[in-house]
Amino acid sequence: MDNFQKSSKNMLVAQGLDRVHSRRKDPDWIARRMRDPGSLFVAVWRSKVLVAEGESPGPVLLEWKQLEGRAQGDCTFFLGENNGRSYFAVDLDEKASSAFDHVGRFRDLRVVAPLLSRDDGALLAYAKTLAYWHERNHFCGTCGGRNEIREGGHCRVCVNPQCEVVHFPRTDPAIIVLIKSGEKCLLGRQHIWPERMYSVVAGFVEPGESAEGAVAREVFEEVGLRVRNIRYHSSQPWPFPCSLMLGFTAEAQDQRIMLGDEELEDARWFGRRELREAVENGAVKLSTPVSISYRLIEDWFDAESPFRLRDFAGRGFAIRKEE
Ligand SMILES: [Zn+2]
Repeated sequence: MDNFQKSSKNMLVAQGLDRVHSRRKDPDWIARRMRDPGSLFVAVWRSKVLVAEGESPGPVLLEWKQLEGRAQGDCTFFLGENNGRSYFAVDLDEKASSAFDHVGRFRDLRVVAPLLSRDDGALLAYAKTLAYWHERNHFCGTCGGRNEIREGGHCRVCVNPQCEVVHFPRTDPAIIVLIKSGEKCLLGRQHIWPERMYSVVAGFVEPGESAEGAVAREVFEEVGLRVRNIRYHSSQPWPFPCSLMLGFTAEAQDQRIMLGDEELEDARWFGRRELREAVENGAVKLSTPVSISYRLIEDWFDAESPFRLRDFAGRGFAIRKEE
C-alpha cells in the first residue's frame, strides 16, 4: 500500500469533493452556486457543527432557502463539488444559533465524529477548520487592514492598497509517532486527557525543522529516548483546530524511558498481549478510532497478531466530555 492509500484510510480526510480550483476564483460562479437549489451548506457555530439527533446522528445539510439570507459572502465558504452538487460551509452568528433547533443541535465534532460515516465526518471537519481560520482572519496581520474573502474562501486579501497581502488558510504541521522496541510499542498519557487514556507521542513541527527532525526531538523531549529508522506512515487533517498530523513509526535505541518536558505524566512499553489485556480489563483506554494515533496503533498491533485491534478496542475508547 502506498502512502496515498494509507492516508486515504485515515478518517477526516476530505477526498470525495472536487475543489474546482479553477472555477472557485470566479466570484460570480461562486454566487450562482450558492443560490443553486441543489447546493448544500454545512452549518458551523462557534466551531461546532449542526448534527441531527437520534440513534444515527448525521450532519444536517441546509439548503439556501433554509438559511433565509444568512449565507452571506463574508461567512460562507465553498468546499467543493460532488455529483454536480456544490457544498459550502456557513459560519452562523449568535442570533442564528438557535434558528435550527428544530432540525438538529450544534455539537463538538471531536465527540460526534466516531458516530459519523467517513464522508460525513470529513465534510464536517473540512467545514469546521476553514470556518475557524476565517473567524480569526478578518484583519490583516501585516498592516491591520480589513481582509476580504477571495476564491470562495480559500484565501483572504488585505484591502489596503499599500499592502494587498494574500493570506492563505493556516494548517499547523504536527508529527505523531509510534515508537517501537522489539515487539513492544510505547504509549503515554497527558494528565489533561480522559482518565486512563494512552496514546502515541505527538508534537508540533517547529520553524526551521524537518518533520523527521521533529520526531527525533519530540521523542527525546517527552520520553528521553533516541530513535532511528524514522519512517513516514500517513497523514491526517486534524481540525482541532487546524493541524495536519504527519504520522511516523520509529525504533527506540533502548527502552529506558525518562519523562522529560512535563507533557506526559506516564509512558509505558506495551506488548500486543499486554495491550489487549489492559484494554479488555479497562486499565487502558485508546484514543478515538477517528484519530491517526489509533491508526498507528492498529497497524502496529494487527501486523503480528491473530486478533484485530478493532475487534476489542471498542470496549476501551476514551470518551471526551462535550464542551
Ligand atoms: Zn494588510
